[in-house]
Amino acid sequence: METPGKPSDKILCEGCGTFIEVLDEALLLELHETTDKHMVTSPCVDTHGQYTLPPVFLHLECWEELENAMAKRAEDTPKRPAKHLAYFCNICEGEIDKDSPFSVISYGSIVVSKRTPNGKAEHEFKPGQSSRIACADCLMSVVDEYLPGWDELHQLIEEPEEDEDESNEN
Ligand SMILES: [Zn+2]
Ligand SMILES: [Zn+2]
Repeated sequence: METPGKPSDKILCEGCGTFIEVLDEALLLELHETTDKHMVTSPCVDTHGQYTLPPVFLHLECWEELENAMAKRAEDTPKRPAKHLAYFCNICEGEIDKDSPFSVISYGSIVVSKRTPNGKAEHEFKPGQSSRIACADCLMSVVDEYLPGWDELHQLIEEPEEDEDESNEN
């Protein structure tokens, strides 16, 4: 089935760098934080309301590769106990502190939206029912290799084993 007109704004997969086609299973990865006492979470934003890290999309297969890599590395990484336990990581089962950012993974698919005012069909992510969370330690273990767009995560998360060398190179 072809859609009338040329779909614009195709969505790129952060993992393999190719477009995610319509009806492909995909997921949205966002950095969240716990924002109040009731453990409500929302995407991390800076003082200007901009995303701290840009939300990224991935093919389901590309994510599974990443998740396998995280799970493998988690076996060799000692878990840090949370001071104020908020959640458990769905990857390593480690504790997530309420003051620590973590990622929310929303599963869904790519659909063509018909409601743009200029008549152009646009691709958009449609979240499904399920979502999971991954702790910052799990993300950090794969960010260099799989998520180049999220390399600033290193500056956001305290790494206890390493010296806190905060050089701004931007
Ligand atoms: Zn991909
Ligand atoms: Zn984890």
